[in-house]
Amino acid sequence: MDHATVLKNLDFTQDELTGGTLTVTSPVDGAEVAQVAELPVADMAGVIAKSQEAFKAWRTVPAPRRGELVRLLGEELRASKDALGALVTLEAGKITSEGLGEVQEMIDICDFAVGQSRQLYGLTIASERPGHKMTETWHPMGPVGVISAFNFPVAVWSWNAALALICGDPVIWKPSEKTPLTAMACQKIFDRAVARFGDDAPEGLSQLVIGGADLGAALVDSKDVPIISATGSTRMGSIVGPKVAARWGRSILELGGNNAMIVAPSADLDMAVRGIVFSAVGTAGQRCTTLRRLIVHKSIKTELVEKLKAAYASLPIGDPREDSTLIGPLVDQGALDAMQSALASAKAEGGVVFGGAAVTEGVPGGAYVAPALVEMPGQTETVKTETFVPIMYVMEYDTLDEAIELQNDVPQGLSSCIFTLNVREAETFISASGSDCGIANVNIGPSGAEIGGAFGGEKETGGGRESGSDAWKGYMRRQTSTVNYSAALPLAQGVSFDI
Ligand code: NAD
Repeated sequence: MDHATVLKNLDFTQDELTGGTLTVTSPVDGAEVAQVAELPVADMAGVIAKSQEAFKAWRTVPAPRRGELVRLLGEELRASKDALGALVTLEAGKITSEGLGEVQEMIDICDFAVGQSRQLYGLTIASERPGHKMTETWHPMGPVGVISAFNFPVAVWSWNAALALICGDPVIWKPSEKTPLTAMACQKIFDRAVARFGDDAPEGLSQLVIGGADLGAALVDSKDVPIISATGSTRMGSIVGPKVAARWGRSILELGGNNAMIVAPSADLDMAVRGIVFSAVGTAGQRCTTLRRLIVHKSIKTELVEKLKAAYASLPIGDPREDSTLIGPLVDQGALDAMQSALASAKAEGGVVFGGAAVTEGVPGGAYVAPALVEMPGQTETVKTETFVPIMYVMEYDTLDEAIELQNDVPQGLSSCIFTLNVREAETFISASGSDCGIANVNIGPSGAEIGGAFGGEKETGGGRESGSDAWKGYMRRQTSTVNYSAALPLAQGVSFDI
């Protein structure tokens, strides 16, 4: 499908696509597809004030009713799945099935959030005082500022928005400046859900602000935005986190990863090869959970690397809209340059590089590259750095302790996994003395999480959790209440204070 048809299918008008100051380029062919309007930073105060107003109304709407809005959003997303998936391909360069998969993830989190809207459970707690009762209640918190990265241009908003909305919080979304069109399409889809919902959805419940880092900074600096959920590089998080903390806000940080797989001698190697290839080269290596470090037992390293080289050599690289393509483009030329520079550093540190060359034949333009596999003599500085491209560094190990130490010895702590058929190794890997990551898998790669689990990582990945499990608590404030229904006023801990 050509770019114009993709945009037409989502009802974009000429006004929306022209005359603005932000140029949108498609990674598919490098073509300029739109020039969209940016919000002046000076207008952010109005956006935030509107969100605060929306909060006052939305927090009083019963949570299951709030869930109904998210149910309608899920329905609208189902109806727009193909169209929005195609726009994700156009704007982020994902292959068709991954573009559709991203929209499916949005639908899944909506379904999850609808159920959760009837389960915002608190506790009743035994009081030490007679005639007293203690409870814990979860209340809405206020506007949530969502700052998102280019590589999951729609799913990250939905992980946050679906939960924030059922929790009673309005949302202000600042998407990546590389992917404003997908965000604008989501806003249209959201507006359709609101129109079907009825009058109890206040104006400004989910607002979109298009622009650069300065707009994000305006959200980060505002005391009227109590929660900042920021997804992106560790560099961005290292600025945002301290700023939010300094004004006593709450941040949910989802930052860079440097994810590893340990392959033990007992591993099912054919399964491991499939897991490795999808995790290392899927989305052209541009997932936060992409496999970047392969830690292989020395007894099987040669065999595994040979199998991987054979698989890498046959990977179809090209136009992400073609059904046969498995590896689409990098987001832009800057990513290709960063890849070449990381490969040069790895070589200088003793690495032996397989693949990694730019691909210019048989592609429609854009920045295409063959994924690289680099055998390293050890875990050097280049290996410890996240380069957001398809480079997988391969290292060998002797004992499991050594492998776990290597896996943990990087600044990031997002996703990790082990391939083994040995239950002692598997359980050790996911035990307290195993992987230090937010995600630790067995016999499955590090990427491609389901929405039912809490998603996020430790150390420089930021410590935030989104999506499933009890991540909803990050969008609410906890209130402990003690009710005295006796005729006396005893103090806790037996303290006496008679007047
Ligand atoms: P980026 O950090 O360049 O940009 C992310 C967002 O932050 C953009 O919207 C940008 O405008 C905004 N931003 C940048 N500086 C800011 C500042 N000082 N104040 C406020 N906002 C600011 O990241 P990117 O290149 O778009 O995405 C790739 C990175 O994102 C990788 O490191 C990847 O691992 C990470 N990522 C992490 C997750 C996760 O869940 N952990 C998910 C997706 C991507």
